[in-house]
Amino acid sequence: MAQTISSPTVDTTKVLDVELKNIVKTFGDETAVQGLNLQIQQGEFFGILGPSGCGKTTTLRMIAGFENPTSGELTIQGQSMNGVPAHRRSVNTVFQSYALFNHMSVWDNVAFGLKVKKIPKTDLRQRVGEALTLVQMESFAKRYPTQLSGGQKQRVALARALVNRPAVMLLDEPLGALDLKLRKQMQVELTNLHQRLGITFIMVTHDQEEALSLSNRIAVMKDGQIEQVGSPKEIYEHPNTAFVADFIGDTNLLSGHIQQHPGTLTLASGLQIEIAPTQLNDGNPADISIRPEKIQLFAQAQTTPPGHQANQHQGEVKHTLYTGPHIHCIIELATGEQLRVLQPNHIRYQPGDKVYVSWAATDCQVLGSPSPP
Ligand code: ATP
Repeated sequence: MAQTISSPTVDTTKVLDVELKNIVKTFGDETAVQGLNLQIQQGEFFGILGPSGCGKTTTLRMIAGFENPTSGELTIQGQSMNGVPAHRRSVNTVFQSYALFNHMSVWDNVAFGLKVKKIPKTDLRQRVGEALTLVQMESFAKRYPTQLSGGQKQRVALARALVNRPAVMLLDEPLGALDLKLRKQMQVELTNLHQRLGITFIMVTHDQEEALSLSNRIAVMKDGQIEQVGSPKEIYEHPNTAFVADFIGDTNLLSGHIQQHPGTLTLASGLQIEIAPTQLNDGNPADISIRPEKIQLFAQAQTTPPGHQANQHQGEVKHTLYTGPHIHCIIELATGEQLRVLQPNHIRYQPGDKVYVSWAATDCQVLGSPSPP
């Protein structure tokens, strides 16, 4: 069952910029968002992450004012937004598709919103110039969108949002249309821009790595609800649920029963895994997550495994997958479980090799809820 968990990293002394209280959004029979509670602080880079259809974009569109919540309350800088149209909110949205006007020059695209607001010409010139400088596009002012690369178009879209000096920038998969290299470059630019401006950024993405590397905090959504909110480190290293552990990065999920003194998880196969002490009682069912990079591989049994690893088991290499910097290995234990193990690319094991896997009790993250039978 999904749960709303407030993050211990929320600093309650900071000013709240955006707050969602029990927000529900339905489209006919479809419930896109169910009872969402979120508190986003001023100046945060907040990521909303989740699989396709989980309600990320709907959440962002409600903050923007493009959709009205069916129930609940949404506030921006302490003001209720119920009934406030999009153009009266101090937020601006950048879309994956850029949504630029192809018949207008870069300058006119950025100036468009200010012209509609009838901003005096000298102010307009100064603000458009500043916005283009912020995204390093001042020398492209006379070009048309069709004469720009994807990354340049995305910078113009950012300038068009920034020129309005919003309190909150909403980013809907802003780098989704870019190739991997450009995407990485634009991620650095987005971070720099966020730091220079000091305003709140709320970004929707389904790219786990992007959310982890850019956000101060992340909300992971599933089926219209929040599964977990936390810093990237909390989300990655201490996932609360099997869904979060599995969705964020790669992991090994194992189910069993807890036995305390010493902390052990006993699997149905009989395999016993040493875990760090937990709050769970003896006999309770539990799931654990072990990240592939935490598991070490050895050709021989280790008498004192590095770091005094508590867990050591024999297995066989079933598959290897070369991905450049790493090799992903699937190891089958004698008890039948298959573990994913990440190896540096200079260590080569072949399918059929007999190996020992080893990891520490503290690398076993006990998850909040057991998986269904
Ligand atoms: P994606 O990553 O694919 O963009 P998402 O997490 O952003 O997905 P939403 O676009 O918020 O998901 O959609 C959530 C659910 O609400 C989906 O099941 C979608 O089909 C439904 N939905 C969204 N907008 C509408 C609409 N205008 N009318 C009907 N259903 C909608």
